[in-house]
Amino acid sequence: MTTSVSIKDLSLSFGNVKVLESLDLEVAQGEFIVLLGPSGCGKSTLLNCIAGLLDVSDGQIFISGKNVTWDEPKDRGIGMVFQSYALYPQMTVEKNLSFGLRVARMPKAEVDARVKRASEILQIEPLLQRKPVELSGGQRQRVAIGRALVRDVDVFLFDEPLSNLDAKLRNDLRIEIKRLHARLKNTMIYVTHDQIEAMTLADRIAIMKNGVIQQLADPHTIYNKPVNLFVAGFIGSPS
Ligand code: ADP
Ligand code: MG
Repeated sequence: MTTSVSIKDLSLSFGNVKVLESLDLEVAQGEFIVLLGPSGCGKSTLLNCIAGLLDVSDGQIFISGKNVTWDEPKDRGIGMVFQSYALYPQMTVEKNLSFGLRVARMPKAEVDARVKRASEILQIEPLLQRKPVELSGGQRQRVAIGRALVRDVDVFLFDEPLSNLDAKLRNDLRIEIKRLHARLKNTMIYVTHDQIEAMTLADRIAIMKNGVIQQLADPHTIYNKPVNLFVAGFIGSPS
């Protein structure tokens, strides 16, 4: 097993409130890990630490074997998709997709090739000349995923990417994210509070409570053999 993301003894406090406590997590190359837990348990905080958007109080983060604990977000080899679409409103879809690459001074031919490939995979080619305001919620979220895709990184971080969508779209995009992962075989760390999303997407689920991982196991094990009442109540069988 090749380790993709490795988190060692990670702690984070806001003021004197501990939000993450001595957290360890090893994610294998190509694995789809879901962080599942109630609102406020520290899922986004953990993801933001991995992304480099928050400084850790203690501990280390490795991505593809490299200690990135103090690296800039852009140097970590990750792509991130948030709950709210965070698209540039004044730019077309095409510009939204290409902007980061152009800032990094990638040659135009390479930028165009990556935008083309991402928009084919996500089926957003007909939307390339539109602006975000002209898109539906589901289309915007595809563009947001496309922006992570064009970076051609090994690790994707998703923070509740479907929670602003209605039930039908949520189902469609969930299936599409699963397909995307089957095709790209990249590492996914996916935050949600939705048990169905966790059960259908994850290779392994990490159940979190108060900044601590309660159980980390495949969906079948979590469901059938919850380690404690919290896990059982949150996802496991009623036994
Ligand atoms: P989740 O994503 O699981 O809903 P968060 O990681 O957003 O939870 O938040 C975990 C805890 O940290 C919550 O109690 C939240 O209020 C607190 N928190 C999050 N961000 C900040 C911040 N910037 N300053 C202070 N407290 C924060
Ligand atoms: Mg959150």
